[in-house]
Amino acid sequence: MAEKSGEQLCLACGLCCDGSLFDNVRFGPGDDVEGAKARGLPVKVSRAKVPVAFVRQPCSALCGDLKCRIYAERPSHCRSFECGVFKESQSGQITLEAALRQVKRGRRKAEKVRELLRKFGDTDERSSIGVRFRRAQRRVESGLVDGAAGDVFADLGLAMHELDMLAHRRFYTREDNS
Ligand code: SF4
Ligand code: SF4
Repeated sequence: MAEKSGEQLCLACGLCCDGSLFDNVRFGPGDDVEGAKARGLPVKVSRAKVPVAFVRQPCSALCGDLKCRIYAERPSHCRSFECGVFKESQSGQITLEAALRQVKRGRRKAEKVRELLRKFGDTDERSSIGVRFRRAQRRVESGLVDGAAGDVFADLGLAMHELDMLAHRRFYTREDNS
């Protein structure tokens, strides 16, 4: 979630924290990982050659009102991330109203995916949309679903595609796309 000047927009959105756009939030070199743990964040460490601390999304620091519970100590990635809609709004390329419409659209599309995931039988709201969709995909590929679930998966694939298209067009920045 970005800096204070875009507060109104971010507080109507939360897509970069709630598992709609990202699966994880990584901690950077100077970040206070122990402090985050002490604030109750379930920090994990990757098994990569150079281990990286991260928390899974939806981030447990995200409150119901879309505020960040650890805003002052949030990881550097959260401090520096500004999605495309945010940037366009801050630079005056689009009005705040237009930006709010875009985040509303993004939230609607993400909710549609979540609805279909539930219909498909996945009620794991603690995992990101991406993790849940890939899990559903593996079930289908293993032939473990009947015809009705297959139909739901077809709708789910379409809804996921639409969310992905919007995310790439309006939310991810060049660095996030790489
Ligand atoms: S996705 Fe953009 S508008 Fe939404 S909370 Fe994150 S930075 Fe703010
Ligand atoms: S730490 Fe705060 S800003 Fe970062 S993902 Fe979690 S809720 Fe969002």
